[in-house]
Amino acid sequence: MTDIVVLGSTNMDLVAYVEKPPERGETVTGREFRTIPGGKGANQAIAAAHAGGTVSMIGAVGNDAFGARLRSTLDRSGVDTDHLRTVEAPSGTAHIVVDDEGGNAIVVVPGANGTVDHLAPGDEGLIASADTLLLQLEIPTAAVVAGARAARAHGVRTILTPAPARPLPPELLAATDLLIPNEHEAAVLTGRTDPREAARVLLDSVPEVVITLGAAGSLYAARDAQPLTVPAPRVTPVDSTGAGDTFVGALAVALGEHRPMREALAWAAAAAALSVRRTGASASMPCRSEIETQYA
Ligand code: ADP
Repeated sequence: MTDIVVLGSTNMDLVAYVEKPPERGETVTGREFRTIPGGKGANQAIAAAHAGGTVSMIGAVGNDAFGARLRSTLDRSGVDTDHLRTVEAPSGTAHIVVDDEGGNAIVVVPGANGTVDHLAPGDEGLIASADTLLLQLEIPTAAVVAGARAARAHGVRTILTPAPARPLPPELLAATDLLIPNEHEAAVLTGRTDPREAARVLLDSVPEVVITLGAAGSLYAARDAQPLTVPAPRVTPVDSTGAGDTFVGALAVALGEHRPMREALAWAAAAAALSVRRTGASASMPCRSEIETQYA
C-alpha cells in the first residue's frame, strides 16, 4: 500500500452541452446539463485511491450542497477526508460550456479552494506520515509551497502538476522531486515547444520531469539518466477530461510500490487510457484490477 496525501482543489464542474457557444450578449438553449465532481486535487486523489493507494485529501469545500456531494464522492472512493475542511464560503465551481465540436470554454470560481492558503494544525503531521505528496496549482501558491516544504523536511516525495500553468516560485521548484506538466504547461514554463528541450530546461530546477504527451504517451527525463519515451495504449478516445490526473494518481501509486520508472509510466498510461475511453473525470477513473488487465 502506498500512502499518498493530496493537497489541492475540489470543484463541482457545472457543464452545459450546446450546439454552438453563445457570443457576448447572446442567449442560446443548451441540450443537456450535468454536475460532475472534479478539481485537479480531488481527481488525483480519486485516481490514486482507485489504483490501490491509501489516500488522504487536504483542502476545503463550501458549506453548501456541492460541498456535501464533493466530500461524499471522495469518501465513496475510499479517500480519507478528515483533513478536508468545510468553510463558510461557496464550494469551488467550474462553469463549462461544451459545444458539438468538442471545444469548451471554462470559468473557474475558486470559492472554498481560495481559503486553502496555509497548512492547518495536523496537516504537516499527515504529510510527514506519507510516502508521497501530490500538489497542483488550483489552490493559493502559499499553501502549495508550505506543503512542498513540509514534505521535503520529512523526506516525503513531492510530485507537482503545474496546472493551471503559471510561473512557479523558485522555493516551490526547490522542494519538488518530480514535475509532471503536459506539453502545453511545459511550453508555458520554458518557452520551448519541443518536449525534449523543455525537459532539459526544467531539469535545471527539478531532479526529475515527466511530460505527458496525450495519445503519444509520456517523456521522462532525469539529471542522471537518459530520457525515456513510454507510449500510450491505442484507444478510441471518448472524453479525455481528467486523463492527466488519472495518469498522475496511478503513477504515484506505482512509484510508491518501488516499480522501475519505465514500468510505472506504462502502468500510469494504462490507467489514463482506460479513463479516456469513458465520459467524466472522477467517474471514469479505473480501479486496480482494470489497470492490471489493460497493462498486461
Ligand atoms: P492532460 O490531460 O493533463 O491534458 P495529456 O493530454 O498529456 O494531459 O494526457 C495525459 C496522459 O493521458 C497521457 O500521457 C496518456 O498516457 C493519456 N492519454 C491522453 N490522451 C490519450 C489518448 N487519446 N489515447 C491514449 N492515452 C491518452
